[in-house]
Amino acid sequence: MTTNSISKLISGTHGMDDYDPNSMSVAKARLYIRDYLNPITESELIDLLSSLGRILATDILSPANVPNYDNSAMDGYAFNADDIKLNASTELTIIATVFAGKAFDGTLAAGECVRIMTGGAMPKGADTVIMQERVQCEANIIRFTEAPKRTMNVRYAGEDLKLGQVVLTSGHLMRAADLGLFASLGIAKIPVYRKLKVAFFSTGDELASVGQSLETGQVYDSNRYTLHGMLTRMGVEVIDMGAIPDNPDLLQSTLLTASQIADVVISSGGVSVGEADYMKLLLTKHGQVVFWKIAMKPGRPLAYGKVGNAHYFGLPGNPVAVMVTFYQFVREAMLVLMGQPQPTPLPVFNVECTENIKKMTGRTEFQRGVLFADKDEIWKVKPTGAQGSAILSSMSLANCFIVLDEATGNLSAGALVQVQVLDGLV
Ligand code: AMP
Ligand code: MG
Repeated sequence: MTTNSISKLISGTHGMDDYDPNSMSVAKARLYIRDYLNPITESELIDLLSSLGRILATDILSPANVPNYDNSAMDGYAFNADDIKLNASTELTIIATVFAGKAFDGTLAAGECVRIMTGGAMPKGADTVIMQERVQCEANIIRFTEAPKRTMNVRYAGEDLKLGQVVLTSGHLMRAADLGLFASLGIAKIPVYRKLKVAFFSTGDELASVGQSLETGQVYDSNRYTLHGMLTRMGVEVIDMGAIPDNPDLLQSTLLTASQIADVVISSGGVSVGEADYMKLLLTKHGQVVFWKIAMKPGRPLAYGKVGNAHYFGLPGNPVAVMVTFYQFVREAMLVLMGQPQPTPLPVFNVECTENIKKMTGRTEFQRGVLFADKDEIWKVKPTGAQGSAILSSMSLANCFIVLDEATGNLSAGALVQVQVLDGLV
């Protein structure tokens, strides 16, 4: 879709009866955001070793069978099951030895076998391998101690992947196993979407930069640091535009520059209705942006839309709210923009919470929790303590969000709660 549809959302002419910008559920906000995303289309060919975290721009077909040849899954003896009785006590004569990486050129006759190591190519005429532990061996004669099954312990050519088969589809996020998988096919270069460029800046007269001394009334600009970390973990190109005072001219030039050089612009602060919050005016003037009050805590105000061709996310100012809104809305949207059509949402698990929880109904809360194994090795969760949206240490201590939906109210210790694991994400 296009900015056209966002303008319909802004003007209320989109035909959705239950659209209420002042009370937007988390789930609905996610769905609306999904509607307006235009993923990257440009791609580049890169070395396999540089592709971790990148997104495939085409389907990749297997250029070969994997494995490439029939081979043994065990250290043992290869023979043709048709030629002999598959009894315990059957005897065969060893005529050669095959190591992994070497082939046996001869052909097996009835009553003959070849000593074979794991990964060794199956000799012509052999279809079965008996494990070395299942035979007695004397000089060049083996005797089965157990009846083998026909074709056992053989890995067939193409059993893992067949020549021409789709190995991974366009939109796949490259992980460690995929590097190995492509290496196993001999693929050295792969086509991936170009990196998403994300520009971000903080807003607020009260912000001091790390390294400066702090005057009364000032706070250090921490949001730019958490954003830097979260964006870097996602493998995008980060463009740090700095901390911008609440000055309309400076905010305007930063916003416009950011929207020209990046695919995505993220700002923090200035989207609530504080006196010096100029962002709303600027965004209305230069973009197609909706302002939502999300029924969630932390993270109530959220602005979303387009400024020029850039996708824009206006996150709240409070440090925990920045991280929560990033993971609940921005992450998934960015994965779509990066070229993953159906990103997997963060999985949610149910676990017992060991403490009472205070919670108001009517909004989704993302409390910070610590998942731990109790003395019986059962995984449980415990809130980190004070849950204010400015208490960033709660995010540092946490290894999960405790997700409490709109219908949930106060909970007693022992209740089941939903958690989203942060490990591997932050
Ligand atoms: P705002 O949404 O601009 O009204 O900001 C809400 C709260 O978040 C205020 O207490 C700000 O001081 C704080 N805040 C805003 N931006 C930052 C930042 N970059 N780093 C740390 N705190 C911030
Ligand atoms: Mg502010």
